[in-house]
Amino acid sequence: MPPRKLVAGNWKMNGLAASAEMLETFRRAHPAPACDVLVCPPATLIAGLAGRGTALGGQDCHPEASGAHTGDISAEMLRDAGAEAVILGHSERRTDHGETDALVAAKAAAAARAGLTAIVCVGETESQRDAGRAMEVVGGQLAGSLPPEADPAGLVIAYEPVWAIGTGRTPSLAEIGEMHDFLRARLIERFGAEPGAAIRLLYGGSVKPGNAAEIFAVGNVGGGLIGGASLKAEDFGAIVAAAG
Ligand code: PEP
Repeated sequence: MPPRKLVAGNWKMNGLAASAEMLETFRRAHPAPACDVLVCPPATLIAGLAGRGTALGGQDCHPEASGAHTGDISAEMLRDAGAEAVILGHSERRTDHGETDALVAAKAAAAARAGLTAIVCVGETESQRDAGRAMEVVGGQLAGSLPPEADPAGLVIAYEPVWAIGTGRTPSLAEIGEMHDFLRARLIERFGAEPGAAIRLLYGGSVKPGNAAEIFAVGNVGGGLIGGASLKAEDFGAIVAAAG
């Protein structure tokens, strides 16, 4: 049997304490989803949303466990608050905070140290795709963003073309398939046949209720990383249902 798909919601910098109600609405409508579900709210909300039946994740972490790093949050802190996973190297962090592959790799090592699943994001810009460099760029990000000692059991890779995030545009299904096949081949090369084949690959970028089922049916797509649509209980629920 193929592994269950994973649908992960990335709330980004959205959500106040009252957002617990949205999660409750989603849970009431989907008490036993046929896929794994993860919600990554702002770090301020993790402890308050923990223990209510939906797995939670952070959106970033610092490489170190503690120390003089004002404003940062460690993987251990996320774990302590109730997180099971953390998104790393999202294109908004790579762009807004200048995060390099090496920094993302250090953060992935921190996630493993704290017992969190690392959801490592990769994806090309529009100009890189137009220049025919999408695979070269994504392959380089993948190689550079995983720590040398990476344990495949604690890894999820999210392919998120930068130009598809929040734009309503998506690659064609053939392009999605091509990139996921490429990533799968790279993971098998690196980790070996079985461990490399078991790592879940998520597609992210303008997944909506209307396109989720066809995207999730593409070979090697193991689920989705959902931004905007994860903020609405009904849309998130429809995407979760499409992954079942
Ligand atoms: C994201 O930011 O991870 C994302 C996929 O956003 P959206 O679904 O809004 O395109």
